[in-house]
Amino acid sequence: MPEGDTIHRTAGRLRPALAGRTVTRFDAKRLRGYRPRVGDVIAAVEARGKHLLIHFERGLVLQTHMKMTGAWHLYEAGQRWRKPAHLARVVIGVEGWEAVCFSAPDVRTFVDGAVDDPTRHLGPDLCLADADLAAAVDRFAVAEASEAIAVALLDQRIACGVGNVFKSEVLFACGLSPFTPVGEVDVDIRRRLIETAHHQLRANLGSGPRRTVPEGLAVYGRERRPCRRCGVGIRRTRQGDHARSTYWCPRCQTGAD
Ligand SMILES: [Zn+2]
Repeated sequence: MPEGDTIHRTAGRLRPALAGRTVTRFDAKRLRGYRPRVGDVIAAVEARGKHLLIHFERGLVLQTHMKMTGAWHLYEAGQRWRKPAHLARVVIGVEGWEAVCFSAPDVRTFVDGAVDDPTRHLGPDLCLADADLAAAVDRFAVAEASEAIAVALLDQRIACGVGNVFKSEVLFACGLSPFTPVGEVDVDIRRRLIETAHHQLRANLGSGPRRTVPEGLAVYGRERRPCRRCGVGIRRTRQGDHARSTYWCPRCQTGAD
């Protein structure tokens, strides 16, 4: 599943081509919800957590959630697509450009702010400069006290933007064991986790490989390799309902003390 920084980069690529333009083509066979029409104007392109939102005039919003497989491509009009046409889930044409969403499992529209707005439950988006970090800290209350902190960090009701990579990196930066129950993480450490996630996500919005330490990533993807801080072997486990990988240093990351 892409991290929030990936979705923000995608929005940043699509926005200059689409925002303010009139739709000349709209195809989406499996769309759920009202259908944008040729002649509609695209008001904005937004990343909200892991959702890519394309706002049309009159409050209609196209939502694509990339899950593991989805990707938006932007092509100049007439340019050959890099993936087969049968994988296209959405095609939006505007003068000079085609934006194509491939393989996204979930494509729908909703009316901005309506009860079926799938982003209404999301916590603050930590990729945004003005994210309400205090609100995100408060929202840890939605997690069960017994839940592992690594699982809670992926809970988009608390804050959105953090995926599997930053989950492990943030816990390492804060020196906290991924198995610590949420109920044992006090408010100061909750605040440090949110501030660290905000900082790491913001620092990775540009192009280039992800980096949380000068060498690259501290723990993610580094199983059995030496910890960059203490030299002990990095470990990996799987946590939560979806058995997502967690990487951690058993020496640098201890309990909530
Ligand atoms: Zn270490």
